[in-house]
Amino acid sequence: MTYDLTDGDFLIGSGYSKIEHGSCTLAPHLFRFPLLIVSQYRFHPLTGQAVIIAESRAERPNQFATPSSVPCPFCEGNEHLTPPEIDAFREEQSPPNGPGWHVRLVPNKYPAVTPDVPSLPEETKDGNPNFLRVDQSFSQSRSPARGRHEVIVDTPRHVVGLTDMTDGEVAKMLKMYARCLQRIRAENQWRHVQIFKNVGAASGASLPHAHSQLIALPFTPSPFQRMANQALEYKRTHAGECFWCVLRKQEQEQGVRVVAESEYALALCPYASRFAGEVEILPKIHAACFSLFLNGDADFFDDLAGLLRKTIQRLEAVFSQKNKPFSYNIVLTSDSFDRTGSDFDNVIHSYLTIIPALDRTAGFEWGTGLHINPALPEATAEKLRAVILQ
Ligand SMILES: [Zn+2]
Ligand SMILES: [Zn+2]
Repeated sequence: MTYDLTDGDFLIGSGYSKIEHGSCTLAPHLFRFPLLIVSQYRFHPLTGQAVIIAESRAERPNQFATPSSVPCPFCEGNEHLTPPEIDAFREEQSPPNGPGWHVRLVPNKYPAVTPDVPSLPEETKDGNPNFLRVDQSFSQSRSPARGRHEVIVDTPRHVVGLTDMTDGEVAKMLKMYARCLQRIRAENQWRHVQIFKNVGAASGASLPHAHSQLIALPFTPSPFQRMANQALEYKRTHAGECFWCVLRKQEQEQGVRVVAESEYALALCPYASRFAGEVEILPKIHAACFSLFLNGDADFFDDLAGLLRKTIQRLEAVFSQKNKPFSYNIVLTSDSFDRTGSDFDNVIHSYLTIIPALDRTAGFEWGTGLHINPALPEATAEKLRAVILQ
């Protein structure tokens, strides 16, 4: 059976001719699955920079833009409104997909990437992004956007930001980040996992209920690869030392950019902060993958959660604007692929970055990649240190 563009039940994705999947013979230029829009990776022909064309994302509701009476799919009791859960921290004997959970992991209902698209032979060869090139035309390299896009519901309570959550809840959320990375690393088919959190409308979030997201990719994004190359070069030229471990000690000694410190981590305003209020939280223990902290000290996650939550409290106190909820992004840097035996084994140091969503990226930034930061990082750190926490 051949489907065409007009039948409505089948939605269009990438353009591969003569691909057969199950009983479907795909029409030339169509690549389609029932009730699923298949996203595409497209690659800039010169730089190799990837983008994800994800038409299905346009369908997702935005409860900030149009608040509705539709129940929140992330609240306890509404588990039936999400796809079935993949993992959860639950009370003993509470069955999956019902109440009794603390943190819940589900597939994203409006995924940017999907695991169930065909793995093209070219995709299994090596880590070079060129392996994704399936089109002979130089200017049109692309691939079905195979990946995982999952949502971590941080708490069963309908709260928005980390400061509405308890330290214990934040600790469980961070532990779930680590568990996700451990699981996906073990699958050994994804080259990069990005875990991130958007809080508030200005951060890009579409649902207010506190949640984080995970996207696993079958290739290493070029900015991450560049950073890994530089970290490897640093290690080679500095007697095998980790750049971030050295940086953390240096920042501790200088003190001027330090926001706060806990037993296991240091919060600091980066020397070359791109954004006002940008803060990095660097663990004092070196771990390339955040999942490795699951094997470490039992109180690591509680300690990190306390420092993270208090840092957000400080940022809220300094940067909140009148009548505007404080919005921010949290980004986890972590090497999520097991590189044992390669030069890149253990070169990354996992850490968190908090970016307040205060300004839009403007023309100069788009044109040059240079950010104009209106706040001196040392002065910001001083203000953040001075906040008296409740
Ligand atoms: Zn909710
Ligand atoms: Zn390190």
